Amino acid sequence: MIRTKTVAFSKNSTNIFFHILTKCNLKCRHCYINPGQHGKNTLPLSVITAWLEAFARNSNSKNLIFLGGEPTLHPDLPAAVEYARTLGFGSITIDTNGYLFHDILSKIKPDEVDYFSFSLDGAIRETNDRIRGEGSFDTCIAGIRQANSMGFATSLIFTASSANIHEVDRLPPLIKGLGIDRFFIQIIGLRGRSAKGKQTRIRRQKLQVEKSQWLNTIPRVARRIAEFGITVTYPKVFLGPTENFECAGLVADNYFVFPNGRVYRCPLCEDFALHSLILKNNRLVPAEKLNERDLFQLNIAEGCVMNKLIQPDNLSYDGAGEPEYKIACCLLKEEIRND
Ligand code: SF4
Ligand code: SF4
Repeated sequence: MIRTKTVAFSKNSTNIFFHILTKCNLKCRHCYINPGQHGKNTLPLSVITAWLEAFARNSNSKNLIFLGGEPTLHPDLPAAVEYARTLGFGSITIDTNGYLFHDILSKIKPDEVDYFSFSLDGAIRETNDRIRGEGSFDTCIAGIRQANSMGFATSLIFTASSANIHEVDRLPPLIKGLGIDRFFIQIIGLRGRSAKGKQTRIRRQKLQVEKSQWLNTIPRVARRIAEFGITVTYPKVFLGPTENFECAGLVADNYFVFPNGRVYRCPLCEDFALHSLILKNNRLVPAEKLNERDLFQLNIAEGCVMNKLIQPDNLSYDGAGEPEYKIACCLLKEEIRND
C-alpha cells in the first residue's frame, strides 16, 4: 500500500552535510556552492577526521553525508569514510555527480557506505546536459548501474526548476529498472550560481516553479515512482491552511559544514555570512551575532523568513495584502513509500 507522510522535525535525528571541498568538474547552472562564502580549499584528511570527531558525540543517531563540490575528487575520501565508520555514525552517504573519480567504487566496500547518491536534473539527456553539462546524463546513469552491479545501494536526486518541470512525467520510465532504492526531488533554491545576476537564458526564464505546476505534478509523479518500491521524498514547499509552520533551525538538528569552517543550520542562509556556528581549532563554537539564529525567531505571515528574503516570487497575496499561503521550511519533506 502506498503511504504518504510528512517527516516531522526531530532533535533526536541529526544530519551532517559535510562539504569536504568545493572543487567540482561540472558547472551546473543552479549549483548552490558559493566559493566566496564557502571557501575554495580542499580539506586535508587530518582536518576532516578532526571535524568528524567534533560531531561524533551520540554518533549512532547521526546521518553523515559527504558532499562537495564533487567529493570523489578528494583522494582521501575512502580514508574519511573508513574513519567515520570507526566513529559509529548511524549512516554514511556519498553524494556524487556520477563521475566517481579516483576509482572510488573499488576503494570503498558496499558495507562501508549506506548510499551513493547521484544527481540528475533532466528526464532526458538534452535537458539534463543543458543544465549540468555535456555528457553528464550518460555518465550519471552509467555510474548508477556500475555502483549497483558492485553491490552498493544507490539513490537519485532531481532538482526541479522551470527548466525541467515540464518533463517530470518522463521520470518514472527512466527510473524504473535503474536499481535505485530512494528518489529525492528537490526544488530549486535561488542561491549560489542561480542567484547571480549574470545567469544566462535559463535564469531569464525564471527558475522558480509555480505553485500550481508543483502541486499538479510532483505529488503525482512521486506516487508513480513509489509504486516501483522506491522511497520518494520531496519538499512540502506550500503549506495548506491547516498546516503549521515550523523552522527547522529551531526544532531540528541539521548541520551544513563548509571547508572554510562555517557551519550553517539553514541551507537558505548559505549565500551570506549568517552561519550560527564555526569550526575553530577543530571545535564547534557559536559564531558572532547577528546570524541565522536571529532570523529563525522571526514570526512572519509568509512562513519562512529566508524564503521571503531571497526568493519571494513564490509568494502570493490577496487583495488585503495578506499572504494566501505560507511557505514551509525548505527542509520539511513528504515521504512516499510502498509498504
Ligand atoms: S551542483 Fe554539484 S555537480 Fe553541479 S557544479 Fe555544483 S557541486 Fe558540481
Ligand atoms: S529554510 Fe526557512 S524555515 Fe527552514 S531553517 Fe531556513 S529560515 Fe528556518
